[in-house]
Amino acid sequence: MVTMRDRKAWLTGGSARCSAPVEPRTHRRRLVLLGAPGVGKGTQAELLADHVGACHLSTGDIFRCAKGAAACELTPALTAAVECMRRGELVPDSTVLALVAERISCLRCEGGFLLDGFPRTVAQAEALEKLLQKHGLQLDAVLSYELPLDQIVARLSGRRTCPNCKAVFHVEARPPKVPGICDHCSCTLYQREDDRPESIRVRMQAYETSTAPLADFYRQRNLLIAVPAEGTPVDIFQRSLRALPSEGRAPRGPK
Ligand SMILES: [Zn+2]
Ligand SMILES: [Zn+2]
Repeated sequence: MVTMRDRKAWLTGGSARCSAPVEPRTHRRRLVLLGAPGVGKGTQAELLADHVGACHLSTGDIFRCAKGAAACELTPALTAAVECMRRGELVPDSTVLALVAERISCLRCEGGFLLDGFPRTVAQAEALEKLLQKHGLQLDAVLSYELPLDQIVARLSGRRTCPNCKAVFHVEARPPKVPGICDHCSCTLYQREDDRPESIRVRMQAYETSTAPLADFYRQRNLLIAVPAEGTPVDIFQRSLRALPSEGRAPRGPK
């Protein structure tokens, strides 16, 4: 089972420090994960983080953690980001970057790191590169999870939501005990507008447009590794491990 590390430095920033990996690592992995919604990137991030002993860094987790924290516990960049979200605005690049910069001690964590959901734009990728350079750190690889559009649509359009308790099911991956009925409150499940194939195609197009330049950015730096996201999470995970660059001169652990 996945043993999640506390990632304190990532979640709260400032002077907090993350717990050390369970086993000492000979080689730190500093990775960025890219992938459209529906390719299973979040699951891969957790499996990989656990396997290589890295901190799994998703900006979404910072925001979720901030919701439960007192205002006085929030770092300056996080306060700014929370205010943006309260106004319903997009958090600007400069604030996202300041958030990451406040968490630099996590980027130096012993087990390395695995960025998930950041960078999202070329501007953010450039800023990240500068930040890492300033601290003498380097990315090892950027894993890009790829799945044909039709398969993404098939996966995402299987989602069914409960109108009452908001529980989410999937007709294949996580079916309710009785087809079409919520396990928790017995209401009739429905397909959200966002989960209809036409809406998914529109969203995927927008995703492609915004991330294609990001993939090019990392391709030019010889960091981009495309990983086919077909098959089960375990299949994809094994593929990810094989795709990672070899550990250089560091002694190789057992497979
Ligand atoms: Zn950390
Ligand atoms: Zn329900």
